[in-house]
Amino acid sequence: MAVWPADEEELACVWQYGRDRGLPPLILGRGSNVLAPDEGWPGLVVITTALRRAEWRENSVRAGAGCSLALLAQEAAARSLSGLEFACGIPGALGGAIVMNAGAYGGDMSGLTTRVRLWSPESGGREYSGTEMGFSYRRSALPAGGRCVTEVELRLRPDAQAAILGRMAEYRERRRQTQPLAVASAGSVFRNPAGDFAGRLIDRAGWKGRRIGGAEVSSRNANFIVNRGGATAAEIKELIAAVRADVERRFRVRLETEVRIL
Ligand SMILES: Cc1cc2nc3c(=O)[nH]c(=O)nc-3n(C[C@H](O)[C@H](O)[C@H](O)COP(=O)(O)OP(=O)(O)OC[C@H]3O[C@@H](n4cnc5c(N)ncnc54)[C@H](O)[C@@H]3O)c2cc1C
Repeated sequence: MAVWPADEEELACVWQYGRDRGLPPLILGRGSNVLAPDEGWPGLVVITTALRRAEWRENSVRAGAGCSLALLAQEAAARSLSGLEFACGIPGALGGAIVMNAGAYGGDMSGLTTRVRLWSPESGGREYSGTEMGFSYRRSALPAGGRCVTEVELRLRPDAQAAILGRMAEYRERRRQTQPLAVASAGSVFRNPAGDFAGRLIDRAGWKGRRIGGAEVSSRNANFIVNRGGATAAEIKELIAAVRADVERRFRVRLETEVRIL
């Protein structure tokens, strides 16, 4: 069962509904970084995309966790505010981007985030500073008790609009050239190991284009697994395991998944 609460009050209601019925909650933004089980989630899927109020100020924005990251980047550009250019091609919501510390082209969420509002059934909504979020490479450590990101404040800075739009166009082009954007995927499968690139190792191991069922290691970017039609989560997981074992055998590097396998 999926629910789309529009504020913290509704979030509290649906949480209680799930708790009363023994349904384990799963919080999602746009689901662009998760691999869901073939049989579906055996509980309550709390989709945060209706939390999308945004309040723009001179050098910052305070926005709901459900706001599209790409649309926020566009709106920032329209207001001649710089900082979110790196995010213009990341297909997630703001809350998911905080949890994943999403980033690209030298920028990430940790560099912009000043406040995060977290909701939990025990203490309701509470505000945390960016540093309390425990950000690291493609990770955050939500403070104990914080369950759901509901609002985020980002610090931006004024810049010439042409320069901002120029950087966004360049990043979009780089993405178009290096990522299989026309086919379904969950983005980078593995985190880059220290000092190297997961895609380089997978490519060197000869995995580009190899398939299990409908799941294929992308020929454009070896760190993406694309769905060539009808791929099951089981096939994708099998391919992930095979790639990981082969890379470890050849290069003695144990790749960790960036994709969240539910
Ligand atoms: C084509 C493509 C390109 C991508 N490029 C990039 C890239 O350049 N850089 C990058 O970092 N990522 C990239 N990604 C991955 C993904 O888009 C990002 O990680 C994004 O920030 C995830 O946001 P989401 O809303 O989809 O999160 P989801 O996939 O919905 O969730 C991700 C995790 O966060 C949790 N979560 C989500 N929302 C909340 C919330 N409000 N409160 C608490 N927990 C929550 C979920 O339970 C899950 O564990 C790409 C993905 C694709 C498909």
